[in-house]
Amino acid sequence: MRFLRQYINGAWVNAVSGETRDIINPFNQDVIATATEGNETDAKLAIAAAREAFDSGEWASTPAIERGQFIRKIAELIERDKEELAELESLDTGKTVEESRGDMDDIAGVFRYYAELADKNGGEIIDSPIPDSISKVVHEPVGVCGQITPWNYPLLQASWKLAPALATGNTLIMKPSEITPLTSVKVFELIEEAGIPKGVANLVLGAGDTVGAELSVNSDVDLISFTGGIATGKKIMQAASSNVKKLALELGGKNPNVIFADADLETAVDQALNAVFFHAGQICSAGTRLILEESIHDDFVRALVARVSKIKLGSGFDNKTQMGPLISAEHLAKVEKYVEAGKQEGATVAIGGGRPQDPELQDGFFYLPTVLTDCTTDMKVVQDEGFGPVITVEKFQTEQEAIKLANDSIYGLAGGVWTNDIAKAERCVAKMRMGTVWINEFNLYFPHAPWGGFKQSGIGRELGRLGIEEYTETKHIFQNLKPEPLNWF
Ligand code: NAD
Repeated sequence: MRFLRQYINGAWVNAVSGETRDIINPFNQDVIATATEGNETDAKLAIAAAREAFDSGEWASTPAIERGQFIRKIAELIERDKEELAELESLDTGKTVEESRGDMDDIAGVFRYYAELADKNGGEIIDSPIPDSISKVVHEPVGVCGQITPWNYPLLQASWKLAPALATGNTLIMKPSEITPLTSVKVFELIEEAGIPKGVANLVLGAGDTVGAELSVNSDVDLISFTGGIATGKKIMQAASSNVKKLALELGGKNPNVIFADADLETAVDQALNAVFFHAGQICSAGTRLILEESIHDDFVRALVARVSKIKLGSGFDNKTQMGPLISAEHLAKVEKYVEAGKQEGATVAIGGGRPQDPELQDGFFYLPTVLTDCTTDMKVVQDEGFGPVITVEKFQTEQEAIKLANDSIYGLAGGVWTNDIAKAERCVAKMRMGTVWINEFNLYFPHAPWGGFKQSGIGRELGRLGIEEYTETKHIFQNLKPEPLNWF
């Protein structure tokens, strides 16, 4: 049985309180690890270590090229231990090992991308309007960063924060989701192996309303980067006002997938499945709102349901499994409630709509892949982020109507449009109010392009150049080469 400790000031330590938490496998409810359970006290110790490490200036003044080499070393260690990391991620989240292997490749790619960018942000010389002067802009680390991650992509979300923060010379305290800490602990072992100086990167394990709340409110933390739900994001925003922290929020999504009648329908059906049922729909950018042109509605739904009926549920460690369980009993109950609300509001269950009967799945938190038709935007099931394997289907007749439906949400994370009419696709995406819009594609992302939301899906961007800029302050330095008295007063 694994015992998970915190990494504070260069040492693996138990929580001061001595409390622990069992970590559960969502496939069969086995206890897979026991984690030390930190609270505000541990968070404060980690913040003090990160503050001291930042203020010493050692990491920030390490040449950027060396910080880049360090980040590259972490990528290499992740690649070396890919299989172990993938298995830990699947054990903890229930997702298939094949998916987790893909995550680990993506994670190594994120570290490699930011390793390359570490020494490419050297600032610029401004054409000063003042004679005999030098005006330059430099980028400096923000300082001590609090980083809070969710359970759906535990290590992937962590990598989007760790790599750019370390590349730019910040120090940090990471708090993974209390229910999925396994791969975060392992990656901190790799960060230690890569030779991180004491106090630069700290890991605190524990709950959101203790450790997370302390990171958000503590005045020694200069930036808080959070990925998670909208309700938590709002609390963090309030707490972060304590010292006007810099804020990066990656919140939820309720993402439209708009299919026009002239699209390649076979591909659109196939990708509509991937858009939602990957990781049992527990993806912030899942294409849960299928918006179909009326003339293809019936045929599309028929084809979709036929494919959904074949999705194989099971253990993430069985290579025949296509979809694993949901993360927890609480989350399963939430998804069930959400579908029941949809039925009450008039949605029709085309397939799924409950837990599977298969005796082998009874110990896991499984929910059947579900398609709900006869949906309208005013329904809760269409508006709220259910975060489960559930597609709602709406219909439209005109392009304007399709855009209106797609934008009818408090969220603005991602969306897709399927059509072979290029001009129509461009007209639609220009009006879709989302941080990422795909044409004839869904759910694709890579480290080079920014990721984040319009509207209540968040503030700021991760990945791409913007993802590293989040972790820097911009400083203008003006030097007068010929100082003279002004004689104004
Ligand atoms: P959550 O908001 O419940 O928890 C996320 C993290 O916040 C956890 O580590 C939790 O312990 C912590 N937390 C909880 N209360 C806190 C508080 N008061 N102060 C500080 N921290 C606190 O979210 P979740 O259920 O773990 O994750 C699912 C959510 O994450 C979904 O809404 C999903 O859309 C979102 N998400 C968004 C993105 C994105 O890129 N936009 C990516 C992945 C997940």
